[in-house]
Amino acid sequence: MNKLVIITGASSGIGAATARAFSAAGHPLLLLARRLEPMEALNLPNALCRAVDVLDAAGFKAAIDEAQEKFGFAEYLVNNAGVMLNAPAMEGDPLHWDAMIDINIKGVLTGIRLVLNDMVQRNGGTIVNIGSIAGVKTFGSHAVYCGTKFAVHAITETIREEVSSKNVRLITIAPGMVETDLVNHTTHDGAREGWWKYAEQIGGALRPDDIAEAIVWACQRPQGVCVREMVICPTRQEP
Ligand code: NDP
Repeated sequence: MNKLVIITGASSGIGAATARAFSAAGHPLLLLARRLEPMEALNLPNALCRAVDVLDAAGFKAAIDEAQEKFGFAEYLVNNAGVMLNAPAMEGDPLHWDAMIDINIKGVLTGIRLVLNDMVQRNGGTIVNIGSIAGVKTFGSHAVYCGTKFAVHAITETIREEVSSKNVRLITIAPGMVETDLVNHTTHDGAREGWWKYAEQIGGALRPDDIAEAIVWACQRPQGVCVREMVICPTRQEP
């Protein structure tokens, strides 16, 4: 059997597409998100689905332990769970800032912490962190979201250097606009509607499968090949 893949935020969008893509390649899966039903509805073979908030380190660890007991060690972790709650800074809600900082940064760190030691000891393993074009350049009304994604890029690259001699890979996948539920959670009407309007103007955003295919491709390179970072945007996306 292929090696275990852990995917956070697997209940929708890019995470669900990544689950389908790894499953099609024959991998057993640990799928994590707060909502259980959409993950179970994917109906994938050898997939353990657990309702876990990435901020609950104990619950996150218990799910990993359970999956490794069932399927063997985790070769891949895809830290995909994230939220985007945009607004111009003057209208920003501190609770939204907290949620983005906690989930997008600390959730990723928790995932890394839970698998990295084992990977280093095994001299193998791959962690994929989902950054963003908003982790490469800035966008108006995205101040805190950009901050969290710049942090993901910096954290990934720094830890990649730290463990490179141990044959462990850290990869940043940085999507541009992808058609998912992400922006729909933004309560600021202008920020939310502006995203969809621009997506329509450029002939549509990417499909979640476009990103999932890139994630699986990067992971499928031989362990001696590390795709450090991929930035993948709609061709017509200008910024
Ligand atoms: P979705 O909103 O469709 O998916 C987000 C996923 O994250 C959901 O499965 C959600 O599940 C999960 N999630 C959110 N908070 C938590 C939490 N606290 N604990 C566990 N799971 C959580 O959006 P996308 O698929 O677009 O987003 C996936 C990643 O891609 C994010 O990191 C996002 O920042 C990034 N990205 C997306 C882009 C886009 O244009 N769509 C562009 C660039 C990057 P649940 O609510 O069930 O917990």
